[in-house]
Amino acid sequence: MPLDTAETLDFDPDALRERYRQERDKRLRADGNDQYVEVKGDFRHYVDDPYVEAGFTRPPLADETDVLVIGGGFGGLLAAARLREAGVDRIRIVEKGGDFGGTWYWNRYPGAQCDIESYIYLPLLEETGYIPKEKYSFAAEIREHARRIGRHYDLYRDACFQTEIRDIRWLDDEQRWLIRTNRDDAMKARHVVMSNGPLNRPKLPGIPGIERYKGHSFHTSRWDYAYTGGSNEGNLRGLVDKRVAVIGTGATAIQCVPHLGRWAKHLYVFQRTPSSVDLRGNRPTDPDWAASLQPGWQKRRMENFNTLVSGGVQEEDLVSDGWTDIIRSLISVAAVRGDKPMTMEEAAEAMELADFRKMNQIRRRVDDTVADQAAAEALKPWYRQFCKRPTFNDDYLPTFNRENVTLVDTAGQGVERITERGLVVDGREYEVDCIIFATGFEVGTSYTRRSGFDIYGRDGKTLSDHWAKGLRTLHGFYSAGFPNCFHMGVNQSTLTPNFPHLLDEQARHIAHVIGEANLRQAATIEPTPEAEQAWVQTIVDTARLNLEFRQACTPGYYNGEGRAGAEDGLFAGLYGPGPVKFFELLQQWRDGGMEGLAIA
Ligand code: NDP
Repeated sequence: MPLDTAETLDFDPDALRERYRQERDKRLRADGNDQYVEVKGDFRHYVDDPYVEAGFTRPPLADETDVLVIGGGFGGLLAAARLREAGVDRIRIVEKGGDFGGTWYWNRYPGAQCDIESYIYLPLLEETGYIPKEKYSFAAEIREHARRIGRHYDLYRDACFQTEIRDIRWLDDEQRWLIRTNRDDAMKARHVVMSNGPLNRPKLPGIPGIERYKGHSFHTSRWDYAYTGGSNEGNLRGLVDKRVAVIGTGATAIQCVPHLGRWAKHLYVFQRTPSSVDLRGNRPTDPDWAASLQPGWQKRRMENFNTLVSGGVQEEDLVSDGWTDIIRSLISVAAVRGDKPMTMEEAAEAMELADFRKMNQIRRRVDDTVADQAAAEALKPWYRQFCKRPTFNDDYLPTFNRENVTLVDTAGQGVERITERGLVVDGREYEVDCIIFATGFEVGTSYTRRSGFDIYGRDGKTLSDHWAKGLRTLHGFYSAGFPNCFHMGVNQSTLTPNFPHLLDEQARHIAHVIGEANLRQAATIEPTPEAEQAWVQTIVDTARLNLEFRQACTPGYYNGEGRAGAEDGLFAGLYGPGPVKFFELLQQWRDGGMEGLAIA
């Protein structure tokens, strides 16, 4: 592929840079994350579980397990599965929802689908002997797979559903954790694994008057099918006589808007910032291909994808989709110019040009699809590709050609006001029967606020106190003073578009460490304060690598709503060299004798 130079470009990079800056600036606001309303008090009902029957009870538990895992999503399931494989017998998963599934338990909205290829996203396919039906799975199939893992590894046996943790305390004299819950349990465990999920707590927009609205409303992660009718597949017959508003145009809205447009009497889509919407191109699984797979195929495919999206080189692109295409063209093209390697500055410039090209293509796609010119103009994203989560959908943009669908663009400012009857933008009131909040999840608020509980370690010290001035862990897994307590997720770890890949690496790591401690008949595992401090410093030093990029981005949860200090946003506090290097580092650390971990 010929490389861009200023002379061969068919666009003006300076003009684009200036447009991106303007679009960011008009969205920057001083209140950052405080613009959102927490789902508590009068808003608590927004997180009620619509998928279970009311009135569930069970007697309180006061027993003991080897490992207690908090969260029954893919993280918790993988941790439990890998521990089971390592010979751990008594494993209990405690889960707020009524079944396994985590994010896929809650997010059942119409059209909910995973935009990472199913063959690498659904974990433990070889272990459970399952092949997904399509290249991109819908939520119902993914949720069923979570249940399959639960059955396969006998995890239903000790699981506690519809159970919320109240607090977790280390009992020094017993060297056990005491876990108390909203069902009056006082369970004990030798080890606890936290897999609460990075996007577990829905948030609402702090639009003035939100509490005054008298019509029906719900958040996309608690879809009210009793009101809309239908299912994950659509068929929202309950909406044929309803005027519906959806607030938000992120990855969730992109998937449910086509269904709402098809069924609502009228749909108003309230947009603050458009998403980039690329091609989907789903297709059924080819049975011949599935039959040809050789043992170890899933791990190879996951690693192939991870290497490519991290800018590495592979002979073949096994997944070959929008993700590998975008990232390959952004990163690999930037890696070599002619025969000689580029300097950092040259690489950054080439990457920016590749990004402009990609986003021009995304904007052209809008023009090619949406007939109304004003709507098309408003639907174009003006920021770099990874400022926000890229989305892939073939039905979203055509929805705006429907007569019963109106895009209400708020010019980056958001909905002005909510009244008893509807929403106000630019002085005009839109009366609706129902408001659907597709406004996402809390990122960057405190751990305790998102998880709903605190952890009391040695001498009663709380984790929120230990992390008050910023996260402190070794490799993202554990903190000094909190023995036998493991964390999964992105904190001081890494991030890859295929999130379950990270979770599986973490699950194997935790199973290895606990297995090693068991071999040595050790009672406690905990990082030394020195090892923890060294990792904090590594994160501080390497996370700076992408700071400038994040600061230039339009606000969102990736960059702490535009604050983008070293600690702000999902991409803050990550190991800078990326997931491939992080997984290698963990492997070397295990092979090298697990330095910095006190196993007593
Ligand atoms: P997001 O946080 O991505 O989107 C929230 C939306 O609400 C944004 O468009 C935001 O606008 C808008 N918004 C917030 N406040 C206001 C306001 N006051 N007025 C108008 N609009 C407002 O949440 P999602 O639920 O869409 O997605 C969350 C994440 O879940 C994704 O980023 C992705 O990681 C994951 N996901 C993954 C999928 C998959 O296929 N694997 C599918 C769906 C979700 P603005 O951009 O201006 O802030």
